[in-house]
Amino acid sequence: MSSRYSKDWQQIALTIKEQAGWRCAKCSRQCLRPDDDITGLTKSERTKITLTVHHHNRTPEDNRPENLIALCTTCHLACHIRQQSNITPGQLSFEFE
Ligand SMILES: [Zn+2]
Ligand SMILES: [Zn+2]
Repeated sequence: MSSRYSKDWQQIALTIKEQAGWRCAKCSRQCLRPDDDITGLTKSERTKITLTVHHHNRTPEDNRPENLIALCTTCHLACHIRQQSNITPGQLSFEFE
């Protein structure tokens, strides 16, 4: 976990996801809620429907609501791959909770 993140990031991210109704803002995929039963799902199935929070301006310190958007893992990766060709999924994981 990067130290660039504020201590209350988890709470901020949770609020954004709740406001989004646990749906991806891009593809409208319904993602897992914290209390969803994930037994029977493989790790990759789970990853695909995990909602994440993306920073529009890629500044992790900037946690203003207008800078944050709830995206499923697939859309989130696509976002970074398109705009930052040198980023790998491994590098991106720092942004996930
Ligand atoms: Zn999506
Ligand atoms: Zn992102």
